[in-house]
This record gives sequence, structure tokens and C-alpha cells, in this order.
Amino acid sequence: MPKQVTSPREIAAKESRAILRRAIRLALDTESAAVRRNTRSFNLNRYRATAALPDYDALKDEARRIKEHALVNRKALIQRLSESVTRNGGHFFFARDAQEARQYIQDVCKRHRVRSLVKGKSMTSEEIHLNGALQRDGIRVVETDLAEFILQAADEQPSHIIAPAIHYSRERITALFRRKFQTDLPLDTGENLTRFARERLRKDFLAADAGITGANLVSADCGSLLLVESEANIRLTCIAPPLHIALSGFEKIVPSRREFAPFIELLAASATGQPLTSYTSVIRPPLAVPVVDFRGAGPATREFHLVILDNGREALAQDAQLKEALYCIRCSACLNSCANFQVLGGHGFGGATYSGGIGATWEAATTGQLKLARFSDLCTGCSRCVPQCPVRIDIPGLNVELRSRLNQSVPLSLAARAMHLLLSASPLEHASAQQIFFAHYDRAARWGTLFAPLSNFF
Ligand code: SF4
Repeated sequence: MPKQVTSPREIAAKESRAILRRAIRLALDTESAAVRRNTRSFNLNRYRATAALPDYDALKDEARRIKEHALVNRKALIQRLSESVTRNGGHFFFARDAQEARQYIQDVCKRHRVRSLVKGKSMTSEEIHLNGALQRDGIRVVETDLAEFILQAADEQPSHIIAPAIHYSRERITALFRRKFQTDLPLDTGENLTRFARERLRKDFLAADAGITGANLVSADCGSLLLVESEANIRLTCIAPPLHIALSGFEKIVPSRREFAPFIELLAASATGQPLTSYTSVIRPPLAVPVVDFRGAGPATREFHLVILDNGREALAQDAQLKEALYCIRCSACLNSCANFQVLGGHGFGGATYSGGIGATWEAATTGQLKLARFSDLCTGCSRCVPQCPVRIDIPGLNVELRSRLNQSVPLSLAARAMHLLLSASPLEHASAQQIFFAHYDRAARWGTLFAPLSNFF
């Protein structure tokens, strides 16, 4: 008997339409109301913030141009970045895949006898399944972003790029904290919940042997990282422990810090709807700030490692139809503006790591498995997201291409063949029976009128 699927984590990899359907039903039952409320508020804030940008369109053009140029010159930029990081006194590693990236980080942690580490929110670390690997080495991994802290307590994967716990209501978080942490402290307001998490996390920051972060952008000429966040936990992750490891895909590299400027404005406005995100840091590690001996382990020196990841990105860069996904700055505007995402969230409309319309290309590219982009079916191609994207990505276009490749990769079913014959579809239309039916509903309607009593009966 097949195992009963009960949680979004178990159905993260939606390889078939049947699993996708189960994920959708589960998301509708348990997560829809919170996702609707939270995406609505993101949208209202974004409308206000982008309307207040006098040069919004020019900024988008500039951001797109920077990304296109950086992608064409990626090999030279990676080389330049590696020289900059080494010159600064840091260590540079280029990981061809998830396994190499994990292994490198595990080895660094072993050399430093890391027993406990703190993490800033990083989708790239989710992509390479870093936490599990470190935990198997006996390392205590603490997520310090409030939403990630909630998900770690719940043992769930993120459902949104910038608000990983968007599917949680305040009431659900209160119940989760009570259950997980066995506490009677007041937890009935957002302030109480935040204070509770902050007090627990403070001890973890002070005890951590290492900090792991991602990066929003990386400058090749001087090895600086742009870190955009709302809670300052990433700043502390870089600065409290003596060892800092940053992990980033190569698509985040730009030539210099000058190119950070349009993204700082666009990211804040498109993501949280702020003129500037609460904490925007540009750092050039290893930081010159002395290491404070919180752990009582004697004087330590700062060490910095930058891991730049390929993991399917090079193949994506060489794919003429899909490469524009690499311009994505992970602002989430396309997710929030999508009617289907607004009712499902990323557990229904997403894969194991990436979600929403843009997530399907990322999921396929970084796993190397086209079938894991099955959730691209949920993009209706309405194009509502396109004007919201700060780098002008044609997200529906990516999904049409993915669907076409997915359809071509499986043989036509009997029902699809019958539909082909009945509706005189072109032999090029390699799709499911349902898709062929809806693509030619006018012809189906003509058949229907010829046999009206039968059609009405059906
Ligand atoms: S595709 Fe565009 S709108 Fe969507 S997350 Fe990426 S940058 Fe933002």
C-alpha cells in the first residue's frame, strides 16, 4: 500500500501530476488563508514603493543590462573575484555541484572543530541541502532569520523566497512555539514571539564557532558582499563568530560595488516595499573587527571563505531559452503578484527549494531533473508578474518552454492520441489530453453542438 502523504515536506518533489494535486489540496486546506493575507500586504507595499521611485523603469533597464553583461562575462568575473578574495586574506572555492560545496564547507568546519554554527537565510544553502550534511557531522545548526527559525522548529522547508514562513499565521506560530519549546511565556503578539526568538538566538550567536550566510550580490573587483535583510541577524552572523563562510551562486557576481546601486533600490521596493531595507550592508571580509572571545576558548583570528556555486547554472547560462532565469534577484514580486501563488504559497506552487513561476526553471536547473519542474503547470501564462519583475524576466515564457520540454519528454497517452484525432490537433502538439482539449475548446464545442443531448448529459 502506498505511504500516506501528510506533510508539505514529503511532497516537495512533485514529480507527477498526482503528487502535485495532493500538494495543492494540502496547501489549500492548511496554508491558503495566511498566504493570501501576507502576499496581499507585500503587494500593497510594493505598489506604493515602486510608484515612489521616479526612475523605476530606467532602474529596471539598468539592472537588466548589468545582469546580461555579467552573465556574458561570468568566467572572467569569477577569476577576478577569486583573486580579490585571496588578496583580501580570505579563501575562495568554486564548487561545480552541491556535493562539492557541501564537502568543502564540512571540511572547513571540521578543521575548525565547529560544534555549533549560526546561519543567515540562504536559499542557496537550501539548494545544496547543507543543514542536513552539517548535522550529520554532529554540528548544531541554528537558523537565525525569524521565519527560518520558525521553520526549523516545525521541520518544514521554506514556502517563499524572502518570507519562508509566509504560510504561517501568528496563531500557528504561537502554538508551534508552545509545543516545541514547552514554554508558558506570553506569546500572543508578534512582539512577544519576536522577543522569545531573539532571546534564544542571542545565546546561540554568542556560542557559535562559525557563521554561514548567502549574499545578494558579490563584487568581483574587491570581493565585497551586498547583504540585504530586515533583522540584522546576518550582520551578527558575519561578525560574532570567528569563522565566516559565504555561499553564493555565480549569477550574483557583478564587476564592482558601483553595480550594487540599482539593485539596492529595486530589491527593497520589489521585495518588502521599503525605500531601503532595514539593514543593508556592504562588507569586505575577512572583517577587520577583532574577534570577541564569547566562547572562552582563547584568542581567535577571523577567517573567511567564499564558496561560489555552479550546480547547473553553467548549463542554464548556455540554454538560450531559459538563461534569463539567472538574472533573477530573488525579490519575490512575481510570486506575490501571481493569482495562483496567492492561494497556494510555495508548498503547493513550488519544488523542494524554489517556488512560484520563476522557481520551476531554478528547480529543474539546480537538480538537473526536468520532471521536478512539473509545478510549472500552475503558471497560467497570464503575464501579470512580468511588469512586476525588476529585471524584466519573461517568467510565463520560461514556463511555456519548460512545459513543452516536459511534454516532449513523455510519450503521448491514449487519451491524448484520441483527443488529437478528435480535435485535429497538429502533430507538433505533444501535450496531455486535457491540454489539447483546452487548446482547441472551439473545436470541442463544435463537436458538442453536433451531439447536444449527449454533451448535456456529460
Ligand atoms: S523573477 Fe523577477 S520578480 Fe520574480 S523573484 Fe526573480 S527578480 Fe523578482
